[in-house]
Amino acid sequence: MSLYDRAKKVIPGGVNSPVRAFGSVHMEPPFFQEAKGIVLKDTTGKEYIDFITSWGPMILGHGQEDLMEKAKRYLEEGITFGLPTEIEVEMAELFTRTTHTDMVRMVNSGTEATMSAIRLARGYTGRNKIIKFEGCYHGHSDSLLVKSGSGTLTYNAPTSLGVPEDTIRHTIVCEYNNIEDVKAQIEKYGSDIACVILEPIAGNMGVVVPTDKFMKELRKVTEEHGILLIFDEVITGFRTTFGSVSKDFGITPDLFCFGKIIGGGLPVGAFAGKREIMEYLSPLGGVYQAGTLSGNPLAMKMGRDVLLTLEKHQEIYTHLEEMAMTLEKGFIENLKLTGIPGKVNRYKSMLSLFFGEFEEIKSYEDVKAADTEMYAKYFKGMLEEGFLFAPAQFEAIFLSNAHTNEVIEKVLDSNLKVLRKL
Ligand SMILES: *Cc1c(COP(=O)(O)O)cnc(C)c1O
Repeated sequence: MSLYDRAKKVIPGGVNSPVRAFGSVHMEPPFFQEAKGIVLKDTTGKEYIDFITSWGPMILGHGQEDLMEKAKRYLEEGITFGLPTEIEVEMAELFTRTTHTDMVRMVNSGTEATMSAIRLARGYTGRNKIIKFEGCYHGHSDSLLVKSGSGTLTYNAPTSLGVPEDTIRHTIVCEYNNIEDVKAQIEKYGSDIACVILEPIAGNMGVVVPTDKFMKELRKVTEEHGILLIFDEVITGFRTTFGSVSKDFGITPDLFCFGKIIGGGLPVGAFAGKREIMEYLSPLGGVYQAGTLSGNPLAMKMGRDVLLTLEKHQEIYTHLEEMAMTLEKGFIENLKLTGIPGKVNRYKSMLSLFFGEFEEIKSYEDVKAADTEMYAKYFKGMLEEGFLFAPAQFEAIFLSNAHTNEVIEKVLDSNLKVLRKL
């Protein structure tokens, strides 16, 4: 019996997170057993060049030797005590210093970070409603799992069964990059809106970049109405630049959510922000939030080491961005050469290749025109060439410092070859 068949008997869909099932590329997923640098090996011994990098955390590459040596020591020192440790303080100091926030609380996933930040925003403002944007993913907590028929819909049907309509009643969905939409909702419900949450560079509908004007006006209008602005930087944090991407826009949100990279591959999330808001958290304030494994020493030490490495070697960001630029340029050239319709969206080192006819891609409305079947064929073609990209159109390409210019050139050669066969 194949591993996938065994898995399906005992794990729903055979996987512990849906995208891993390779459903949207109509394939059975390979099962992986080890990784080194940028090479993933599956259980049949087949090797793949990894462009998923665990959806971001492996920004330094897999199995980085000096980090692994230290990790062995950390294991021996103790995995978790459920009690205060010095490394938590050190991590919080490092974190607040590098993200220009006053206080931070560690959690175990991005989902927990956004869920907790929203509860905190509601507790702090004493308001109920939240605004999110269509196409932005913030993990799978109830109030954030909202589908929307259109960007101007006020109340929405939940994306998932099991989410009460009463919960969703307080979630307003707006169109990304559409400030008028936000203003209209604030006009209507402003005095009961606790927060606006968004991915400052969207990565979960493929890469979609907000305009400067949108971001600046969003900050302004939220401020004017006492609405907290929350940046979900679970992808962008420490990915495109060291720290928060907010400095690129010259605005400061009230709360930040982090995840992925900051755990160095261990399950970690964090939310951070201004002191007067963060002090509403239990045990100081009345907003309850807790976690048995939150801030456990193993994850904190590994996360700290990754962050310190990134801080010391900020040329890594230049390397990532240069590779992304080469990919962008090459993809565009190859699309032109082959006459296949498509578009590349890029922000610094984050990029996506979309198939389909587009004028521009600046919201979920635009993204919906993507040809996902074409992507599925392309994905399989690239896999045959030995390159593992995300098994879904609406994801970003995640590069690591272990990727090289040579491998990027090879990707572009294969890209042309595969596009020719589509
Ligand atoms: C991945 C992701 C999350 C959820 O993080 P998990 O660790 O998977 O719970 C939240 N927000 C964004 C922007 C993400 O990309």
